[in-house]
Amino acid sequence: MPVSLPNNQVPDCLPDPWADDPLLQQTLAGCDHTQRSRLAAFGQLLAGEEAAGWARDANACAPQLVSHDARGERIDTVRFHPAWHALMALWRREGLHRMPERGNADGFLARGAAFFMAGQLESGALCPTTMTFAAQPLLASSAYGIAWLPGAAADGYDSRDVPWRDKHALVLGMGLTERQGGSDLRGNEARAVASDDGSYRLSGHKWFYSAPMADGHLVLSRQADAHDALSCFLLPRWRRDSTRNGVAITRLKDKVGNRSNASAEVVFDDAEAWPCGEAGRGIRTLIEMATYTRLDCVLGSAALMRGATAQAVHHARCRHAFGRTLAAQPLMQAVLADLALETEAATRLALALAAAFGRADALSLAWRRIVTPAAKFWVCKRAEAVCAEAMEVCGGNGYVETGPLARYFREAPVNSIWEGSGNVMCLDVLRAVRQSPELAEVLLADLAAGVAADKPMRHALGELQRLFALDAELLQARARAVATTLALLVQGVLMRRGAPDARADLFVASRFGEGGALFGALDADAATRTAVCAGLYPERA
Ligand SMILES: Cc1cc2nc3c(=O)[nH]c(=O)nc-3n(C[C@H](O)[C@H](O)[C@H](O)COP(=O)(O)OP(=O)(O)OC[C@H]3O[C@@H](n4cnc5c(N)ncnc54)[C@H](O)[C@@H]3O)c2cc1C
Repeated sequence: MPVSLPNNQVPDCLPDPWADDPLLQQTLAGCDHTQRSRLAAFGQLLAGEEAAGWARDANACAPQLVSHDARGERIDTVRFHPAWHALMALWRREGLHRMPERGNADGFLARGAAFFMAGQLESGALCPTTMTFAAQPLLASSAYGIAWLPGAAADGYDSRDVPWRDKHALVLGMGLTERQGGSDLRGNEARAVASDDGSYRLSGHKWFYSAPMADGHLVLSRQADAHDALSCFLLPRWRRDSTRNGVAITRLKDKVGNRSNASAEVVFDDAEAWPCGEAGRGIRTLIEMATYTRLDCVLGSAALMRGATAQAVHHARCRHAFGRTLAAQPLMQAVLADLALETEAATRLALALAAAFGRADALSLAWRRIVTPAAKFWVCKRAEAVCAEAMEVCGGNGYVETGPLARYFREAPVNSIWEGSGNVMCLDVLRAVRQSPELAEVLLADLAAGVAADKPMRHALGELQRLFALDAELLQARARAVATTLALLVQGVLMRRGAPDARADLFVASRFGEGGALFGALDADAATRTAVCAGLYPERA
């Protein structure tokens, strides 16, 4: 006999990351109609069952290394589920891989918005997409790389494993990290020796080499004919003579999250490579590229926060316990409102940062150089906490693989680790302030104007200035305090300038006063608590 079981479980939630997000629409209000319509159409696609299936399948069926063919010849190929290719093609079609023109702040903002929307669906395929995006300024400035630019920027996606000259669309990766260290790259040992034809032969290894199927990687290596200084090289997957390049994939990493994406360990055996950027300035060249990937870490982490909080709010609105919905329980309201505020501040920061990348005034340059590492540190860290708390809102269902929360939760820490781990970002804030005091001055002046009417934020700004005056060793020890305070001040000012008063008041009071360490300690009345979620996560009619 079939048994009929009671079931008050919550229906699936497939939010439309454009139509269901008033904050995103408001932030993009100044962009032209075409950009907004495009984002609206993208949102509908992301909210569909098919896209959700791609995200699920690409992660459930992780890429497989096929090192040799049937005859025992090395092929060093990675086989992906078709869902991976569908995601890669979709991100390309939406232009997430394409660098907007310099000076086009709306272009950067629209791309940032699209990236933020995409990150609510799936993060793994965004990794090679980001690297392709970030590589373009470097390709454009290199005699060899310039020929790659049209393919890197092309709209289509070409998954064929053939020489790059035969392809209409190219994917780029980055190879910096060796066993000796990813933060302190000065220990790199890969070595490139010049050939007669202008190319180099590269030997050594990389300990992390994501997207090993990319058409080319920008690799950090010692350059034998430049006193073994570290230089940047473009290393194609195929040699000029159409044979496979000397890159052996030792294994694929078995990662906590980011499972759809392949991250390899590789060994270079006389791999053909071409100089890219100035000889001996490889670290600087690749760190400039990483400024863009760090922007995407901030956008991607804000996306995880938005995706996770949307799931939590939906669950709480549908689920009943103790005689009413969870969303009607005062304590749960406090948790949800706090998650929503944190996500709002992260979203505002991420999108403002994206727009700043498209401007050349002093304040935007200060954002790009000083706020980027602070935001990368803070938003990526907060994403971990938000994803964990949102998971708990969904109870046991949050902890199983049937919804996206488990994937968000596993994904969140990687944004904090790669492209410069947390501490390294905090130290970079100090370095940026030291190297560009004039930009720091512009940034601090803008913050001072923004916090003028807020006593707790004024106090925090004073504390930040006091920290900057510490001697170097002490300051290093307080670098997390510096980056945290700076990021919070930037968020507080953005909230003051853009959010309704009630939300800005709540953010400032909780982040610069009582509460803030754990979600749900907000001091707010019932009307305010519910208004926060209603304003940011409106219920569909
Ligand atoms: C999924 C994944 C994919 C990746 N893909 C790539 C890729 O495609 N290409 C690539 O080049 N790399 C890649 N990486 C590597 C990544 O960039 C490095 O792991 C990261 O930079 C940290 O380097 P590490 O692992 O050697 O740790 P370490 O450099 O040993 O650092 C360990 C810890 O020490 C901290 N630390 C370091 N220096 C200091 C200091 N002076 N003071 C205080 N704390 C400090 C760091 O913040 C970190 O928390 C990937 C990593 C992951 C997880």
